[in-house]
Amino acid sequence: MRKFIKMTVAALLSALTVASASSCSGIIESTVEFQRDMHQSDYYRLDNVCETDDGYYILYGGHEAYFIEKETHRIALLCTKPECAHNDDTCNANISGGVLWESDGRLYYTNSTLLEEHGKLVDHGERIYSTALDGTDRRVVQDLEFEPSGSSTHVYPILHRGYVYFFYSGVFYRSPLGGKIKKRAEALWGEEIEGQKGSLQVYDSIPVGHNFTLWADGDFVYFMANVMQPDGTYKDTLFAFDTVKAEENKKDKKKDDDETAEPLVKQVWETPDADVVGEWTETGVSVTKWYVHDGYIYFYLSGGDYWRCELASGEYEKLADTHEVTPYGKAIFTDEYMCLLNSVPEDRSLPGFVIAEGSRYDYLHLVGGDTFYVYGLDGELLCELSLSTIYEQFDGVVNVEPIFCSDGGIYFVAEAETVIGGSETDQDNWFLAGGKKKYDYILCRADIETGEVEVIIDWERT
Ligand SMILES: [Zn+2]
Repeated sequence: MRKFIKMTVAALLSALTVASASSCSGIIESTVEFQRDMHQSDYYRLDNVCETDDGYYILYGGHEAYFIEKETHRIALLCTKPECAHNDDTCNANISGGVLWESDGRLYYTNSTLLEEHGKLVDHGERIYSTALDGTDRRVVQDLEFEPSGSSTHVYPILHRGYVYFFYSGVFYRSPLGGKIKKRAEALWGEEIEGQKGSLQVYDSIPVGHNFTLWADGDFVYFMANVMQPDGTYKDTLFAFDTVKAEENKKDKKKDDDETAEPLVKQVWETPDADVVGEWTETGVSVTKWYVHDGYIYFYLSGGDYWRCELASGEYEKLADTHEVTPYGKAIFTDEYMCLLNSVPEDRSLPGFVIAEGSRYDYLHLVGGDTFYVYGLDGELLCELSLSTIYEQFDGVVNVEPIFCSDGGIYFVAEAETVIGGSETDQDNWFLAGGKKKYDYILCRADIETGEVEVIIDWERT
């Protein structure tokens, strides 16, 4: 769960401060493109990152903002108040975000808003906020829900060339950044699902919420949805919205009203079957990791290989036989690289994961990993990066999670578990033996050029 609605006095005071600092909600000019390579980490502790000229902003645990300086790779909490204990909502680093963007020198993030008004708590639903780059000067930018839903499942909106793209009740919308959505949001695709308030996504007759992943590349805004097939199985399916055509239609009012005109949102790809790309862990349902760039969808299949498909022609091309290097893995992409970590299935049996009846695959929980294989987007294996120094430096490393790759470095988290106190030799029964577990989340950077691996910060928890 990323969202915390804290009912503390401090939370309310800070919420009230935010409310009073945000009287206007005018449209905000923004020309930024969607930062593809910052929006791939599934790791729940560090899945929000954005890049600026000088560095990276990153939310640890979904609510502590840090800044990593690009040149030195040094990290600092985003709060310089000397008197601050950094433990409540008055701290400048306290940002609870579903997303993180930078545009024109400000940070943007989403959060659910509960405010005290006339002695009552009022739910304002999910909203976009902004703050100065040092965490001060917080403002409400925009609502993301037409009616507050109290829902805790959210689709991450994206910002692309001044528009915020988001889902609400099964409908795909866009609105100028900062615009009042009741006036300014345009419905682009989908039909409102009766009784489904909020950004919880339901498509067709899928009985549970399946989050749509938003993306953009050049003139197109994409979303990946898990769509029910005629035989009752499900497939991840990619849709594209043509932003240039949408602008042309706006200028040419006639076209906009023409019902025979080509739709602006089209299906452009769906998860291939095994006869096209072979078997993998989630055969026919979802690809392990995908990245849209320059008219291609690049994807990695854990249990299979590395592929791409040209969206215009639908032609597939295998880029590398990655299964020969590692049978399973976790991948992240950039416009230059596909970085593959040789993770392994966890050594305990897990139940199969059921997407829906007739569409079952064995879900493998992958852990560990001690080598990154860096491929070019064309499939050439460029280098191997050993993470052995991390395993030597820290006891009990059980997992590695790739977070992002930028500026010649792969950022990843090594998770370590160690038992402290009690009878330390009894690792299996540490709790009964009076021990405690210490967890280390160690953010590291592996340099693609030099192979050097450095520790950026060790977040410890007991
Ligand atoms: Zn602080």
